[in-house]
Amino acid sequence: MTVQDTQWPDSLWRSTAEPVPDFDELNQDIETDLLIVGAGYTGLSTALHAVDHVKDIVIIDQAQPGWGCSGRNGGQIHVQWKPDLAALKQLYPGSQFETFIETMGAAVQLVFDLVEKYQIDCQAQRTGSVIAGKGTKAIRYLTEWSRFWAEAGEDVRLLDNSATSELIGTAHYDRSMLDNRGGSLQPLAYSRGLARACQERGVTIHGNSRAARVSPNGKGWQVSTPGGSIKCRRLVLATNGYTDNLWPGLSRTIVPVASMLTATSPLPESVASTLLLHRQPVGEYAGVPAYYRVDDTNRLVFGWRGTLSGDIGSLNTAHLRSKAERLFPQIAGADWEYDWAGYVGITSHPRPMLLKLSDNVYAGLGYNGRGVPMATMMGKQLAFALTGQPTAISVESLQTIPLHSLHRIGVLGRIMSGHLRDFFD
Ligand SMILES: Cc1cc2nc3c(=O)[nH]c(=O)nc-3n(C[C@H](O)[C@H](O)[C@H](O)COP(=O)(O)OP(=O)(O)OC[C@H]3O[C@@H](n4cnc5c(N)ncnc54)[C@H](O)[C@@H]3O)c2cc1C
Repeated sequence: MTVQDTQWPDSLWRSTAEPVPDFDELNQDIETDLLIVGAGYTGLSTALHAVDHVKDIVIIDQAQPGWGCSGRNGGQIHVQWKPDLAALKQLYPGSQFETFIETMGAAVQLVFDLVEKYQIDCQAQRTGSVIAGKGTKAIRYLTEWSRFWAEAGEDVRLLDNSATSELIGTAHYDRSMLDNRGGSLQPLAYSRGLARACQERGVTIHGNSRAARVSPNGKGWQVSTPGGSIKCRRLVLATNGYTDNLWPGLSRTIVPVASMLTATSPLPESVASTLLLHRQPVGEYAGVPAYYRVDDTNRLVFGWRGTLSGDIGSLNTAHLRSKAERLFPQIAGADWEYDWAGYVGITSHPRPMLLKLSDNVYAGLGYNGRGVPMATMMGKQLAFALTGQPTAISVESLQTIPLHSLHRIGVLGRIMSGHLRDFFD
């Protein structure tokens, strides 16, 4: 890993979040009860939920809190998971389905609860969130799910083409589903707020401290960084889309796929008022879904895929900008001010994974683009697993994705077939 690899992306979030001092590098040998590797939502939330139940906690990150996906994402908070209803019931058979449905809702609630509890200043807004789609598959998906949620007593509504067009500001979609449980936040400010809360609760955080090696040590474990080492009884790996070879096979349980974001300068009020009437974030139901929102300074923040093979490449966001301008011709001529990207942890089955890697060693990863709520919830579940309590997300053993080394070809195939589907729908 080079210094270059841990430089901050030039994101809108980085330039608008309250600056904070860096956490110091680990430069000695220490011991702790619980060590967490990775200071994104998963790691920070694990610490916050475990802090009352373990003796002491150390978190290390190769960069700083929020440097990974947790400081780069679209800040969209959706309850909705991506598979259609029947597919989700297959993924979670029997009573597991009810449990997962409850967990999806509870994950969103948990984000807003933590923001409230720790007074995190991160522009959190519970405006509701929207999934929008075009074509027969999308109409079926949105109709089925909105009926399901309504029957479950949730405040979720199906909108037709004209109501969708009025809400979003484009006539492109056939239907949308407005879910009043969702919302949005400034993702890096949320990460930094969680880190601050950890510190206030007595958790030690070290930045610029890459875990280079993990080895058994008596009844526990030892993790080495370039500047020191940590002996611990319990260990959590919360490295997700940035997982390296620290634990054998862990990086082969997910495929890191690039997602890019681009943001305009603040749009004139006359234009901004024609977009996203009530400022809900929108995620598409599509073969290759885009996601977007307008922030509190009237910038359009627009996300879509990276290169066709799933890499960041040279961070060329021309395809995002032209898609945004096709959807919203009223923004023509807008000044696009920021481009950035990150690696989302995708699983072969679209399930988040809570893995038991060895005695007292766990990992949580694979949120498939829904990690603002689900990584936060995974932290709570990891804390339960570490302290021997029942978990809402089942604990699994590590299983690598077959033919993982061919993942670029697999991603290319999925993106191409997704584009074809979107073209013909
Ligand atoms: C562009 C983009 C847009 C997205 N949009 C949304 C969205 O709108 N809504 C949503 O719900 N989700 C979204 N996601 C997904 C969401 O951001 C992630 O699921 C979530 O942030 C994952 O959190 P995490 O803590 O598991 O991982 P991360 O935040 O990636 O944290 C992992 C950390 O591990 C550290 N690390 C890795 N290896 C080591 C090591 N060996 N030693 C020390 N540290 C290490 C990294 O430095 C990193 O800080 C998006 C993701 C991207 C990239």
